[in-house]
Amino acid sequence: MDISQILNNYQHLLAKTDERCREILKNYSGHIRCKKGCAMCCCHISVFPIEAAVMRLAVNALPEAAADHIRKKARTALPQGACPLLEDGACLLYDSRPIICRTHGFPIFFIQDGKQRIDVCPLNFEGVSSLPGHAAIDLERLNQTLSLINRMFISNCVTSPLQERFTIAEIFICEPLTLNTSHFSLNKDG
Ligand code: SF4
Ligand code: SF4
Repeated sequence: MDISQILNNYQHLLAKTDERCREILKNYSGHIRCKKGCAMCCCHISVFPIEAAVMRLAVNALPEAAADHIRKKARTALPQGACPLLEDGACLLYDSRPIICRTHGFPIFFIQDGKQRIDVCPLNFEGVSSLPGHAAIDLERLNQTLSLINRMFISNCVTSPLQERFTIAEIFICEPLTLNTSHFSLNKDG
């Protein structure tokens, strides 16, 4: 499988995730307070290599001054601090943000210690004590699909040794990955 197919699969997963979030928002808009300026959830997370690659490409495609601004913020970011892409309560790379950020604020369904659980940002669904399963995003299924696409990316496209996850800051300041394709580059100027 070539890299464009793998990137298409990833973009398709992003689109499906956004669609699912829009569906929940439509049904529960009165309970969801997420908006620009509310950014308690934007901590310094880490992501899979496929997500890191797509975000690095997105920054490389920005005008030079904007890209440099992000790289500068990445160099001074603290591991336990806010996400370096957060500025004035908004994401500097909103359209290319990773999956986890797209699901921020929506109810998440998962299994813990054999029990089904739903978790949600404490600012949302205030006063709601229970939610039906269809109101939540199935985190496990989402992560399984993401992990599969990530594995395909690593085994088909990456030729250099690779860490399992990248912090948001590392995406923009680490050495470029070496990929076995000529038309895709994670170099600063690529
Ligand atoms: S990538 Fe964007 S949306 Fe995600 S945590 Fe960082 S600032 Fe927030
Ligand atoms: S998830 Fe919570 S903290 Fe993040 S934007 Fe939504 S309401 Fe605000």
